[in-house]
This record gives sequence, structure tokens and C-alpha cells, in this order.
Amino acid sequence: MSTLWVGTSWKMNKTLAEGREWASGLRDHLAGAAPEGVQPFVIPSFTATAAVREVLGEDSPVLLGVQNAHWEDAGAWTGEVSVPQAKDAGAQIVEIGHSERREHFGETIETTRLKVSATLHHGLIPLLCIGESAEVKDSGGTSEFILDQAHGALEGLDDQQLSRVVIAYEPIWAIGEQGRPATVEELIEPFAALGEQYTGKVAGLLYGGSVNLDNAADLLGIGHVTGLFVGRTAWQLEGYLELLRIAQTHLAA
Ligand code: PEP
Repeated sequence: MSTLWVGTSWKMNKTLAEGREWASGLRDHLAGAAPEGVQPFVIPSFTATAAVREVLGEDSPVLLGVQNAHWEDAGAWTGEVSVPQAKDAGAQIVEIGHSERREHFGETIETTRLKVSATLHHGLIPLLCIGESAEVKDSGGTSEFILDQAHGALEGLDDQQLSRVVIAYEPIWAIGEQGRPATVEELIEPFAALGEQYTGKVAGLLYGGSVNLDNAADLLGIGHVTGLFVGRTAWQLEGYLELLRIAQTHLAA
């Protein structure tokens, strides 16, 4: 059974004090070891990256990420943060291509490709987010659309580089307050398409979008799914801990 990745992005939420509290609660709960077979990760806002690293400690079993990073190492890019800067602050993962960044901040297939490349170059893990709109889904084009996003961002990588990439499939219509939770049936085909291309080649194929404590176990049961990428349900530590328990139970079944 492959490793199950269970992680959360806090998006633009949490003060430093709130971030430290969440992270110290997780650190104390895990007491130095992740549940067997489970890879926990947390992706705070940039302001909290270094603080969360400090709280978790250098040898934490929890991987730490940033929600974006520029493809250049340094320079005249006001407001941006580079991969070396993220690494310096303690990050091990770079989230790339979240649908909110594609929609509001002009992220394209080309910029995701540049960011994946920079992330790998600096030895961090790219967490590539892909996902289609309701319109694309309704027109029956989901698999083609998400494969285009993935192929475009991962083009030119060799097998070793690809093996360090994590892909999160997050249908836009299923994300956030306005989203509607996807049914297992709706996810079987996209994951079959992704699995055919990427199972065994990438480090993880995650599902994200309105994951909650009632649907998490079923979502983990979908073919080719090797983890969950979670927003709201994990922002309270208790919710995140429960998701870790669900992943553990899934592995034990
Ligand atoms: C997300 O925005 O990537 C996400 C998965 O959010 P939520 O779990 O809150 O739908």
C-alpha cells in the first residue's frame, strides 16, 4: 500500500498565534512520529512558515509547505517569494497551481511548469493542483482538461524528478464554501485517467475539495487515490487529527 498523504492548506487564514497553537497541538499529539503509512503536511501562509517550522522542530514527521513560490531564485519581483526563500524559512513542499491562483492571479500551465521545475531544482516537493470548472465537467471534458494541466506542468521531467511530485486533483466546483462535495461516482473516471498516467510514477495522487469527516473514508477508497488535501475541515486541529485517524483506519482495513 502506498503512503497516504493527508494535508491542509490554511489559505489566507490564521494569525501567528493561531498557527503556532495548531502546530504545537499537532506536534504534541504526534509525539515525534506520524501514524504508520501516513504522511502529514501543513501549508500555512508565508507569514507563518518560519514560526510553524520552529514549533514543529527540524525533525518533524510533518512536512511543511508554502502556498506558492516564484520560479526565479531572486530579483525584482515585488511581492513574490522564491523557492530558496521558502526553503530558508523551513518549507519542504511548494503548492503550485491552486485553482484560486489560476483564477485570481493569472497562474497558467506555463507558470506552473516553471514553478515545478524551480521547486525540484531546489530539492523541494512540488504539490501540483489541477481541476476543472463546472462548465468543463458539464461538457464532459474533465479527464482531458486535467490531463492537459498535469502534462503541461510536468512536461520534460525525467522519471526520478516525476517520482518527487505530488498531484492533487481538486475540481473547482467542489472546493470551498460555494463548492458541492463530489460523489465517489463522479471521481472514479478522473482518477482512472490520472492513475493510468501517473500511478507508480509520482509520489502521490491526492483528492481535494469539500473533504469532511463523513466522506473522507469513502474518498480514500477510490482507485488510485493516495491521500487527501483539505481546507476547512482541517483548520481546527481536531478535524485534522480525525482525518489522520481515518487514514490510519483505511490503511489497517
Ligand atoms: C481547497 O481549497 O483546495 C480545498 C480543498 O478547500 P476545502 O476543503 O475547504 O473545500
